[in-house]
Amino acid sequence: MSGKKSPRLLVATPEEIAKGKVADVYFVRSRQILESEGIRKRVRAEVFVKSLPRNWSWALFAGLNEVLELMEGHDVTIRSIPEGTHFRANFPVFEIEGDYLDFGIFETAILGLLCQASGIVTSAARCVKLADGRPILSFGARRMHPALAPMVERNAYIAGCSGVSAVKSAEVLGIEPTGTIPHALIILMGDSVAATMAFDEIIDPSVPRVALVDTFGDEKFESLAVAEAMGDKLAAVRLDTTSSRRGNFLRILQEVRWELDLRGWKGVKLIASGGINEKSIVNLNQVVNGYGIGTAISGGPTVDFSMDIIEIEGKPIAKRGKMSGSKELFRCRECLTDHVLPRGSDPPVCDSCGKKTAPLLVTYMEKGKLTVPYPDAEKIRSEVINHLKGLDVEPS
Ligand SMILES: [Zn+2]
Repeated sequence: MSGKKSPRLLVATPEEIAKGKVADVYFVRSRQILESEGIRKRVRAEVFVKSLPRNWSWALFAGLNEVLELMEGHDVTIRSIPEGTHFRANFPVFEIEGDYLDFGIFETAILGLLCQASGIVTSAARCVKLADGRPILSFGARRMHPALAPMVERNAYIAGCSGVSAVKSAEVLGIEPTGTIPHALIILMGDSVAATMAFDEIIDPSVPRVALVDTFGDEKFESLAVAEAMGDKLAAVRLDTTSSRRGNFLRILQEVRWELDLRGWKGVKLIASGGINEKSIVNLNQVVNGYGIGTAISGGPTVDFSMDIIEIEGKPIAKRGKMSGSKELFRCRECLTDHVLPRGSDPPVCDSCGKKTAPLLVTYMEKGKLTVPYPDAEKIRSEVINHLKGLDVEPS
């Protein structure tokens, strides 16, 4: 590979993004006009969403890590709800304050970072919640542009997924990548038993032995054959049954479970993959021990945040349909009801239950410098897992 030039993939480099090269041109033109008119004004702008995709009643906030990276060194102050916190439509989640000329051209990039990351983290968290403790491996890198794999899988991971498949994604997270055996290896090796035995011989023993059992033969007979060959070393079988052969996937899985159990392979777990979505998780939970999920996570809908000016030179002002002025967002610790009050207000008692509320917006950046140490992915992930206990998901 050495000496080969970088492929010309259609991506903007981080340097180009930092220079505002992915700004919508109307922001660039606005800057040109403001500069030639000599207009420099301190502006406060707020990010919120008018409605959530797919009738979600909540979404999780993500992408702040990259926004802070992008805005570091610019003379701006940023308040935001923490990553992994849930929010609902029409509540302020993020606020940026500074000279408009210092951040206006970054609106496109800031929104893009928040919209996509929040969509992915929410999609993943919904699957995690529905899987009810069963591990989910993120297999979605192949569904997205490869340049985005680290972002996609970082957000799948902080949502509570147990592992990520792409090597670079795992590297960014500081964890080992997770995977099983592809159909390609089985086809090249001849059959599932030969491929699994070779895997066992060659791959580091710390990697769980998970056989793929749907390549050439029936899932039941391949599972039994591989269990016989591998003995106690077999951790799980993965069923990725192609949709044209699937029929009733639950029944296939139940049959495999039955036959394995009957022969004493109760410890061999079942992993389901291939087009798994929220509804199939709920259907398969009764027999499946873990999932590999791609599109339902990485292709999650974007949360369509918008950024609106709410204050100029300290004076509240906003367009039609938007409440002006800087705000506080308070969340009830008991029933999780949110309350919005003008900036500087004391925490109210909850409208719904009368209990105490606490402020949610944190000042992360002042004059372009981080004001608090930013939590790592592991910390955010453990908070999300804890947080999810109080949230409901209707599979959609
Ligand atoms: Zn309450």
